Amino acid sequence: MKLEQDDQFRDEHDRFALKFTCENCTLFDEREERCAHGFPTEEHRVARYSDARALVIFCKEFELD
Ligand code: SF4
Repeated sequence: MKLEQDDQFRDEHDRFALKFTCENCTLFDEREERCAHGFPTEEHRVARYSDARALVIFCKEFELD
């Protein structure tokens, strides 16, 4: 699912400390910077969202750490 970041998303992301990126996923190996299930991580990393124009992409395998 790909969504545009709108004002409401950015506001709620900050207010509720929304966690949905690899860095918050139990399947993410921080040392190797890779997904334990072998999925590409580029579109799910937190750094992506420093660009307010980046589409929000949720990973269907995400498991909160
Ligand atoms: S399952 Fe998805 S969110 Fe979790 S580490 Fe892999 S790619 Fe990232």
